[in-house]
Amino acid sequence: MRILLAEDDPIIADGLVRTLKKAGHAVDHVDTGTDADAAVFSQPYDLVILDLGLPKLPGIEVLRRLRGRKCAVPVLILTAQDGVEERVRGLDAGADDYLTKPFALPELEARVRALSRRGSGNATRIELGKLIYDQADRMASLNGQIIELSARELGLLEVLLLRAGRLVGKEQLVEHLCSWGEEVSNNAIEVYVHRLRKKLEPGGVKIATVRGLGYCLEKPASVESREHE
Ligand code: CA
Repeated sequence: MRILLAEDDPIIADGLVRTLKKAGHAVDHVDTGTDADAAVFSQPYDLVILDLGLPKLPGIEVLRRLRGRKCAVPVLILTAQDGVEERVRGLDAGADDYLTKPFALPELEARVRALSRRGSGNATRIELGKLIYDQADRMASLNGQIIELSARELGLLEVLLLRAGRLVGKEQLVEHLCSWGEEVSNNAIEVYVHRLRKKLEPGGVKIATVRGLGYCLEKPASVESREHE
């Protein structure tokens, strides 16, 4: 997923960025409300983690503007422990969930997983032939065997699987996989696709290259051959 994190506390932000990246997400970090507002306006995100106490423009205002533009991206707000009123205003303004500071990182990860499931129509398990991907655990298996995937490969697989049978443009992949400041070229995307393809092909799952346009995770022809768990 591509996540925007709006948080002005550098220590909290640093911990969050590292945790989310380790889980295979692309994270853009901003530390003011105005930057958050500009970011959600210009970039499609899969999730926004929004501190309500932001300088320049309060988080609640960022949220109101975002919902005012009919942007339906899931939003997780971060609030102060005694901020009951603030929390209520946040939820009223269209936040999907909240976390009170201080929070444990595993709790944040659990909320992120829950919101990502909500964003993708509650699908926690995606099956494609003998390939099974569990979105909650971020684990993929092929023919019943767990496949070892790097964070990038996992991100790539998720984007392709959610659009299985459809063309996914290289630009689209770059957008989903990369945060700002990370230079990821089309060539690098080709390398990730190549690696992922090598891991999936033995199980009959194919990533087709649509020359000059992008990639498509093909739906297998013989779904009947799928073994029952
Ligand atoms: Ca703050």
